[in-house]
Amino acid sequence: MVNTTIKTTKSQEVFAAAQNLMPGGVSSPVRAFKSVGGQPIVFDRVKGAYIWDVDGNQYIDYVGTWGPAICGHAHPEVIAALHEALEKGTSFGAPSALENVLAEMVIDAVPSIEMVRFVNSGTEACMGVLRLMRAFTNRDKIIKFEGCYHGHADTFLVKAGSGVATLGLPDSPGVPKAATSTTLTAPFNDLESVKALFEENRDEIAGVILEPVVGNAGFIAPDAGFLEGLRELTHEYGALLVFDEVMTGFRIAYGGAQEKFGVTPDLTTLGKVIGGGLPVGAYGGRRDIMSMVAPAGPVYQAGTLSGNPLAMTAGIKTLELLQKPGTYDYLERITKKLADGLLQIAKETGHAACGGQISAMFGLFFTSGPVHNYEDAKKSDTAKFGRFHRGMLERGVYLAPSQFEAGFTSFAHTEEDIDQTLAVARDVMSSL
Ligand SMILES: *Cc1c(COP(=O)(O)O)cnc(C)c1O
Repeated sequence: MVNTTIKTTKSQEVFAAAQNLMPGGVSSPVRAFKSVGGQPIVFDRVKGAYIWDVDGNQYIDYVGTWGPAICGHAHPEVIAALHEALEKGTSFGAPSALENVLAEMVIDAVPSIEMVRFVNSGTEACMGVLRLMRAFTNRDKIIKFEGCYHGHADTFLVKAGSGVATLGLPDSPGVPKAATSTTLTAPFNDLESVKALFEENRDEIAGVILEPVVGNAGFIAPDAGFLEGLRELTHEYGALLVFDEVMTGFRIAYGGAQEKFGVTPDLTTLGKVIGGGLPVGAYGGRRDIMSMVAPAGPVYQAGTLSGNPLAMTAGIKTLELLQKPGTYDYLERITKKLADGLLQIAKETGHAACGGQISAMFGLFFTSGPVHNYEDAKKSDTAKFGRFHRGMLERGVYLAPSQFEAGFTSFAHTEEDIDQTLAVARDVMSSL
């Protein structure tokens, strides 16, 4: 059922009212559809691979609440586990056995993680890891990559992707110069630039942080040897290597990009999937480094709701579901079918495009490419992407509302969902 004339009256009413109540009518910027134009739809409920808006329209969803919904939305086993946990209360603010369970699962899965600290969001995880990498090395500077997003802490708001890229803000007002004066940036996939920064700032760089597979500048894979090269350089210059796997953790592979590419960082941040749709983040890594975190060590970091029993429960159940044999083969198969299909259709309908996927993460840029970094990504025809996005939405397919965001699949997406999505894409691209 290809839906070409959706009615969104209620969405428009709710969103109009929201504009007076919350800045831009949203709780997080990209949701406002600024970069694709048009009105956002307002959600009513989600289930499996689908979402329904307040007007009752159904969409196939490739945002998956920005990554967490890898089992599909509101998986019955996750919901059942949450019901049971709910009866025992919503927050303890004290140790619970559930934290041990999720911590053990994370430590078993992620090669770099020997100890872990739970927090409430990816932003918080990245803030924690930043303080820790500086404390451990006794150095202040860090290297990040253009287009990589590590949450909205001051130090990271330099050439950050995601909503910052979407809104065209090179930086944000309110971030003091002092907060970013220690942030050095390099183009993704460019080892020479990283080496040059290490040379220019000898004994001053605490570490390198990156999205090992970029999702916040659109989908950009690491070139062969890039991650290995960073591992060698950080060793050579006595700095730490930090993988921000908030998006890629348990998505690129069960053990994240570090398992997939066989490169083990010193520290890792997690979020999204490990909360199964509830607010969670985590950072972890080598035992000697993590032992510096309070109260084991002097590096302060705390949280009223950290290790929350509902969030731990949703995370545990989600990881259990991901352990079923064949899950990642299935995710790879359907996502490859989708990404290859979109490229093929773009070619047949005469649009310059490039893109790709790894496991359940994909992207499509309206530029001939290849895209190795954020500069390449910015050559995309964003106006065309906006029309594509709107066309897909009006025909029942919900894509991330920005050229500079990756797409996500889940194991709730069926072959038929992919076929239908590709049929819609052919329709839309034919008239772009
Ligand atoms: C989403 C994301 C963050 C921020 O996580 P929040 O939970 O939104 O604060 C950090 N890093 C990466 C790589 C992300 O994708």
